[in-house]
Amino acid sequence: MTESTSAAVTHPIPDRHGQNLYTVDAELQRLLTLYLPDDLRRHMAPHFERLGGLAGGPLDELAGTADRNPPVLESRTRTGLDVQRIVKHPAYVEMERLALSEFAMGAISHRDETFGWQGKMPPAVKYVLFYLFVQAEFGLCCPVSMTDSLTRTLKKFGSPALVARFLPRLTTLDFDELAQGAMFMTEQAAGSDIAATTTLARPGPNGEWLLTGDKWFCSNPDAGFAMVLARVEGGAPGMKGVSLFLLPRRLEDGSLNRYRIIRLKDKMGTRSMASGEIRLEGATAYLVGEQGRGFVQMADMVNNSRLSNGVRAAGLMRRAVAEAEYIAAERRAFGKRLADMPLMQRQLDKLRVPAEQARTMVFQTAQALARSDAGEDGAYALLRILTPLIKFRACRDARKVTGDAMEVRGGCGYIEEWSDPRLVRDAHLGSIWEGTSNIVALDVIRAIKRENSLPVLRAHAEALLAEPGIAPAFATALREAMDRACALAQTAAQEGGEVLARQAASALYHCTSAIAMAWEAARSGSTERMRWAQLALLHRVLPRDPLSPDAVPAAWAASGTPAAVAA
Ligand SMILES: Cc1cc2nc3c(=O)[nH]c(=O)nc-3n(C[C@H](O)[C@H](O)[C@H](O)COP(=O)(O)OP(=O)(O)OC[C@H]3O[C@@H](n4cnc5c(N)ncnc54)[C@H](O)[C@@H]3O)c2cc1C
Repeated sequence: MTESTSAAVTHPIPDRHGQNLYTVDAELQRLLTLYLPDDLRRHMAPHFERLGGLAGGPLDELAGTADRNPPVLESRTRTGLDVQRIVKHPAYVEMERLALSEFAMGAISHRDETFGWQGKMPPAVKYVLFYLFVQAEFGLCCPVSMTDSLTRTLKKFGSPALVARFLPRLTTLDFDELAQGAMFMTEQAAGSDIAATTTLARPGPNGEWLLTGDKWFCSNPDAGFAMVLARVEGGAPGMKGVSLFLLPRRLEDGSLNRYRIIRLKDKMGTRSMASGEIRLEGATAYLVGEQGRGFVQMADMVNNSRLSNGVRAAGLMRRAVAEAEYIAAERRAFGKRLADMPLMQRQLDKLRVPAEQARTMVFQTAQALARSDAGEDGAYALLRILTPLIKFRACRDARKVTGDAMEVRGGCGYIEEWSDPRLVRDAHLGSIWEGTSNIVALDVIRAIKRENSLPVLRAHAEALLAEPGIAPAFATALREAMDRACALAQTAAQEGGEVLARQAASALYHCTSAIAMAWEAARSGSTERMRWAQLALLHRVLPRDPLSPDAVPAAWAASGTPAAVAA
């Protein structure tokens, strides 16, 4: 028992600081037996344990320090040279080292050997690392994810020469050598509507391009490389005229490329990480892929980032719920532990259900990504719909779960020296960047229309429901709900149906996650997980009479599963 844990037992204000976020998370370890091969799981366990230990203590402290000491933009040196740099607090730099170098979170999908493992790691390993890391620090996960996503997009669409030239710096684990990634898309008049991009690209003297224009939101603005959307001068109007470019921060001779960071944003959350505005003044850049295919290629990078956003939302919720559970177990009022009070038990369940749904969707989507990258039939269509589903719903749920978990700590939850306010501030961003909720819900509809994702999702759900151990009555209820969700989504995909996009996205997410949770529960023998699957269906999908107590139907309990408890 750590010093801080024992202090919590004897002190009226409990403090979870010092717990290992991996070893205390029995449910995560159980899920890993389903989603990782045994040898890989055993190989990674000590690394997860080390990160869990850091995230529960030292990393959390670094994150708090970096949050209170945001980056500062300097435009001149003390000798009067106009050289821009972003001064980051040493706490943030140490977190960069941990994420990008020691835990290889930007490079893990692109190197053949990490953590001493032969061959590439599956996406599930990367997302477990993110899931643990983000429980301490959210802001830095954006640059780390952009480094991963930029590298993926460069490898996929860049010319062999471009890849050979720049890939080594993006994938090295040597902290002094590595370059980070960024993504400069948004302009003042072109946020959701990328077709309105006005940044111009003109041919340069040696086959490169020169970019001119203003980018309005640029996270990690001093990254070594950024993917930028720009319009080739004289090209087609609208989306067809937008191309993708790789923009290095420094030129071959080591001098800064011709763009300036105009100012840094004063943000509500992610305060540890710099987001700025950029003016491109004839900056040298390299065309990635085909001219005019910028949006399609950038969509690949954005989809990867959207999935990462879903993972981060799941991690934030896990942190919030685990804090709430700890407080409920340790804090006393009216002579009792909070955890023994029926109304508190109900509230904790209401926090756990969305947090567990998101965790399930992380693994389901990671699995679909692995299958899609392996070229498995139908896997891309599945990935294409699961990605906006998790981005849409998990990010929205994280806002509520972090806010409601804050209340479990009582007054202390509102005080900045605890993790709760930071979690709440950070959680709100997930629904805005990388596509707002409306835009991402519309992307679910696009996946249905363009990739015919709905029958694939339905078939996937059916395969999960075939797992023995799910009570037939519960399986029937899940199947019927999924059918209705698919019918709603189909209507949303018809002409004039877009007003239903959010409702349909929520319904698909809730049904898919409840079904996958039931599958996980049946596979792992977890009665607790089966109960959360039941509550997800009961509370988040099925109609309820607000004037009567809600109880899980007794018939939903499988043989061998204890009768489900009313929530
Ligand atoms: C902290 C932070 C960091 C960011 N970092 C980056 C970055 O690194 N790189 C980058 O390129 N961008 C970045 N962004 C920008 C972010 O991705 C955009 O702000 C976001 O995509 C929305 O664009 P917008 O701000 O122009 O809003 P708008 O597009 O103007 O949207 C305003 C509202 O209109 C709604 N809306 C728009 N179109 C529709 C529609 N068809 N139907 C219904 N509703 C609609 C939206 O949902 C939203 O609610 C960042 C933003 C923030 C806050």
